[in-house]
Amino acid sequence: MSTKNQEQQGKEVIEGAATILRAGPICDDCLGRAFAKLGHGFSNRQRGGALRTLLSMLEVDGRLGTCWVCDGLFGRVKDWADRAVAASKGIEFESYLFGVKLSPRLSQMEAFFDERFPTGLTESLKHAFNREVGKAFEAKSGRGTVDLTHPHLSFLIDLVHDSVNLRVLSLYIYGRYLKLVRGIPQTRWPCRHCRGKGCEACGFTGKQYPESVEELVAAPFLTAAGAEEAHLHGAGREDIDARMLGTGRPFVLEVVSPRSRCLDLPSLQEAVNTGSSEKVEVSELHFVPRETVALVKETHAKKTYRALVAFEKDIPPKTLTEALESLIGTIKQRTPQRVSHRRADLVRERCLLESRGNLLSPRQAELELCGEGGLYIKELVSGDNGRTLPSLAARLGVASRVVELDVIDVTSESFPDS
Ligand SMILES: [Zn+2]
Ligand SMILES: [Zn+2]
Repeated sequence: MSTKNQEQQGKEVIEGAATILRAGPICDDCLGRAFAKLGHGFSNRQRGGALRTLLSMLEVDGRLGTCWVCDGLFGRVKDWADRAVAASKGIEFESYLFGVKLSPRLSQMEAFFDERFPTGLTESLKHAFNREVGKAFEAKSGRGTVDLTHPHLSFLIDLVHDSVNLRVLSLYIYGRYLKLVRGIPQTRWPCRHCRGKGCEACGFTGKQYPESVEELVAAPFLTAAGAEEAHLHGAGREDIDARMLGTGRPFVLEVVSPRSRCLDLPSLQEAVNTGSSEKVEVSELHFVPRETVALVKETHAKKTYRALVAFEKDIPPKTLTEALESLIGTIKQRTPQRVSHRRADLVRERCLLESRGNLLSPRQAELELCGEGGLYIKELVSGDNGRTLPSLAARLGVASRVVELDVIDVTSESFPDS
C-alpha cells in the first residue's frame, strides 16, 4: 500500500470510528469488529480500545452505557464459556465448535449496524462472538481446538431461551457380526401392541423380542463409553429366523453422546463375544467416519446363502441340479407377501449369480445360492404364489420351501475391510 493510500485509509478509519462513537454507547468489541480486517494479531476488543483512545485524544468521546449493538453480549462471553464448560463436564473431547442463536432484536441491531456503518472491514457479530466464546472456553477447560467440520462437542448458545445446548459427536465403529442362533432380530423391534411404550403383552419392555444383535453388540460399548443409546446400521439384514455365518455382515455401530471416546476395541470385541452367550460374535472392529454409515447401508452387497429346502414330492438328483442351473440369471420378484405390509408393492429384478446344491434325502436338499443384494431367497425357492418368477418350485413343478436359512457371505468392494 502506498503512503498516499495509507493516509487516505487512516483518515477514513478515524472518521468512521468517530461516526460510530457518536451514534450511541458502543463496546470495544463492536467498535473493533467494524474494523476487524485491519491488522493481524489483535482482538476486536484491542482494536476498539485503541480507536477509542486515539479518538479521545482527538476529543471525540464515546457515550456511556450498554452497547446498543450487542446489548452487552461481549461482556458476558466468559459467563457463556463457563456454562459451556459446566455442560461438558466429564465428557472426553479434543475439538469443539460454538454456534449462537441470536434474539430477533440482536439480529435487527446487527443488520442496522452493518447498514448504517458500512466500513467494508466488519466481522459479523455471530462470527466474532463464537470465536471469543471458543477462546474463553479453551482457556477455562484447558484443552480442545476448534474443528469446523467434525467437532467432538458442538455448543449452541441460544440467546432466545438463555440456554447452552450441547451435542456430542457420535462414535462410529465398523465391524462384522455373526448371528449364531435363530430368532433374534438385527435391531431392537418395538412391540406390535404398544409400539414400544410398554404393555402387558411385552412385559413392559416395549420390545417384541427380548434381545437383538444391536443390543447384544452395543451393551459393552454403552458401558465403556458412558452412553445410553446406540444404533446398529447393518449392510442389509437377515430374517429373524436366519443365522448370519461365514465372514459375517458389515455394520457400523453408532454410539450416541459418548462421555468417553477412547475405547479399547480389542477388549470390547472380546466382551461382546464372551458376553452374548454365544449368540453373536463381532470382528474387524475399527473406528470410521460418520459417512461410512451411508456407505454400509446403501451398498447393494452380493450375498451368499445356505438354505435347507423341503419338497412336497421326491426329487431325482439330476432334476434338482438342472433346475438350479436353469435359475441363474434375472429373477423378477414382486414384493413378497410376508413383507408387503411394510414395503411398497412393486416388481424388482435381481440377479441370481450362483446356484448349486445336493439332496440330503429325496425330499430335502441343501442349497448354496449367491445373489445380488435385495434378492429374496425364500420366495426364489417357493415362488410366493407366482409373485417370484422364475422360482425353484416352478422349475421343479413341485411345491418347495425353505426350512432353514443362513447367510454365509456378504461382499462388496465398497466395504472398508474389503
Ligand atoms: Zn457491543
Ligand atoms: Zn408392548
